[in-house]
Amino acid sequence: MPPAFSEAAARQVLRDGFGVESPSLTPLAGERDQNFRVDMTGGQRFLFKISNPADDRPILAMQAAALRHIERVDPGLPVMRVVPTAAGELWVEVPGPDGRVYLARLFTFLPGQVTANTALTIEAIWAHGQITARLGRALRGFFHPAADYEILWDITRLSRLRPLLTHVCDGPRRAQAERIVDRFEARVAPALPGLRAQVIHGDMSLDNVLYGDDLRVSGIVDFGDMTHAPLVCDLAVAVADVLHGRDDALEAADAMIGGYVSVMPLEDEEAGLLADLVAARLVTEVTVTAWRRGLYPDNVAYAASGEPGARAFLDAIEGMGIDAVARHFREACHQLPYRRSATPGLLERRRRALPRSPLFYDHPVHLVRGEGVWLLDPDDRRYLDCYNNVPVVGHSHPRVAWAVAQQQRLLATHSRYLHEAIVELAERLKATLPPALDAVLLVNSGSEANDLAWRIARAATGRSGAVVTACAYHGLTEATHALSPEEWGKGERPAHVATIPAPDGYRGAYRRDIAGWAERYAAHIDDAAGALGGRGLAAIYLDPGFTADGILAPPPAYLAEAARRTRALGGLLVADEVQAGHGRCGTHLWSFQPSGIEPDMVVTGKPMGNGFPIAALVVKSDVLAGVPGETELFSTFGGNPVACAAALAVLDVIEDEGLVASAGEVGAYLRQGLAALAERHPLIGDVRGEGLLIGVELIEEADASRPGDSDVSAGDNRLPAAGRARRVTEALREQGILISATGPDGNVLKIRPPLVFQREHADLLLQALDDALTSSAGETP
Ligand code: PMP
Repeated sequence: MPPAFSEAAARQVLRDGFGVESPSLTPLAGERDQNFRVDMTGGQRFLFKISNPADDRPILAMQAAALRHIERVDPGLPVMRVVPTAAGELWVEVPGPDGRVYLARLFTFLPGQVTANTALTIEAIWAHGQITARLGRALRGFFHPAADYEILWDITRLSRLRPLLTHVCDGPRRAQAERIVDRFEARVAPALPGLRAQVIHGDMSLDNVLYGDDLRVSGIVDFGDMTHAPLVCDLAVAVADVLHGRDDALEAADAMIGGYVSVMPLEDEEAGLLADLVAARLVTEVTVTAWRRGLYPDNVAYAASGEPGARAFLDAIEGMGIDAVARHFREACHQLPYRRSATPGLLERRRRALPRSPLFYDHPVHLVRGEGVWLLDPDDRRYLDCYNNVPVVGHSHPRVAWAVAQQQRLLATHSRYLHEAIVELAERLKATLPPALDAVLLVNSGSEANDLAWRIARAATGRSGAVVTACAYHGLTEATHALSPEEWGKGERPAHVATIPAPDGYRGAYRRDIAGWAERYAAHIDDAAGALGGRGLAAIYLDPGFTADGILAPPPAYLAEAARRTRALGGLLVADEVQAGHGRCGTHLWSFQPSGIEPDMVVTGKPMGNGFPIAALVVKSDVLAGVPGETELFSTFGGNPVACAAALAVLDVIEDEGLVASAGEVGAYLRQGLAALAERHPLIGDVRGEGLLIGVELIEEADASRPGDSDVSAGDNRLPAAGRARRVTEALREQGILISATGPDGNVLKIRPPLVFQREHADLLLQALDDALTSSAGETP
């Protein structure tokens, strides 16, 4: 209970202790202290506080010191200033009506009033979040020995309320509270010691924040719950106490959180615990109110407390499920500039707005987060990523994310100014390649790099014909589309492009059991060049992983022979490392390297920035010299500092985490497991690849009774099982495993995970694939 000085006694303390003469006094409500507003005749106002005797001196000294600290760090924060006593002290000690000694303090008066939460606009709630964060930030460097003060309302000590739960009379409500305390002990308490902690206000509730008529925060009062605790608790209290009693509490929480993180971003652990901490605060309110109601049955403050609102908010949280609320709050912490995930009708909106933008799967996968080899949907369902090569060092790798964020904060310009990053990246790339490849051009996509390579090849050779493999993919632009038979429309065949069969030793014209089969494939380059006629061979583009051609892994002799013939024909060889590069082959950074050839140009892209767009063309400078000097080769975003920071971080991580060797080792393990599956599943005809670029070819036996099978060459019963490949891919998706299918017939399962993929992940894939193949065994093709 607050002290009960008479007005006359209070007046005397003011006069004797503070030299304040003949003011007008207005009593103000207070839970612990007796408070008066002091109005001076000149219009000046003060707050006069006679403290609860339970508050001891060190704590009052801490509050005064904190107010001074806040004033120094963030003078704009509307907190009270301590008015010293006539003797220059923080307080005077006076005997009270009951004979005990009381401490009386004087402060500047803050305008505004306590406002009902239902009167707060979303903007006001946002501002409340912001001011809470500013206060936390202002107290960051504050220390006081009394800060270990234990308070009942400290949510980190929720377990201590357990004995009070018996005061919650309503059985189901008590059971709910017990559940929440149990959960808190299991998943919150162990994490608390690792959170950022400092002296915090501890009670940024509606009672302690004053608003002006314009609903701007005009004052933060009552530092009586200040203690050393995790910083995020201030936000949890604000969310719980300001929003309970509002029908839109969960949505309004977005605004509170948004305001907070606009000043003080939360760490992932803090964001993940916020929902639990809010629930803990609400349970504290329900429990303490029930207990005090029993202790002080006549105290109207408890009878009329905000506790019904706390119960309603708790029910809303428990009704939605704590994990769903946690996800909701975590999303709010990220403050991304688009609508919250899982808005209704997203698929239809996408189809209308982006009609030609392809989506995987019958039921497209909706992804919101990635971590290492895992991708997560809005409900936190995890998918094992066995498909994506862009996140080569793993989804959301912290070193790459950090490099991008830091560089974006510092500088993001184009490359026509001097900058370290672009030069360092170019030098690092060159150092990984044969010395003759000495000129680097930085662009934004594999298509752009291949397109540029094509311009350079034409300029350098004076010729205009190209050779590519029969189902190659090299890009989206006009020039690179022409080099991409995989995407040609029916009957489309650019006159300047000739194709060669890809070196398929399993189902192609030359099989692996024929001596010199790979070289025989390479010999087709001569025929193709001949077909170009007078145009002449400017360049041959080869993806050494033959990813669009069905993931083929010919022996090194293939590329060696292809390079020899290309050179003899006077053409240039472009190694397209967009898919197979960056260590995927498991022995070298670049997949052409095992063959010992020296391409004239090397193109790298997709994985280069682990998701941040960047691509490069590295070319021999005597080749580049074919482009007239007056022609500027410049792409606005190419080699910008942010992209370069990403690419450098990727190279660092590949090196530091030993990802090339890991890809080799895990890839071999996975291929072994797949070969074992092939023994049991006749649908698997072939398992091939290098490192973590693996193709699993699905085939069916020819069946003479089936129309179409008759054109299979005699004795060859390897029919592409494209339908089955598609269904296996779909079945794996249902099991939470993402792969794809590729090849001219779409019957080759494509396994191309981030290089952080480990044996345990390979085991998950093998098990799921085994199940999918078993359950599809009886199906028709
Ligand atoms: N070359 C190869 C081998 C590719 O796989 C791709 C993309 N799939 C490209 C070039 C084109 O790259 P981008 O999509 O970045 O333009």
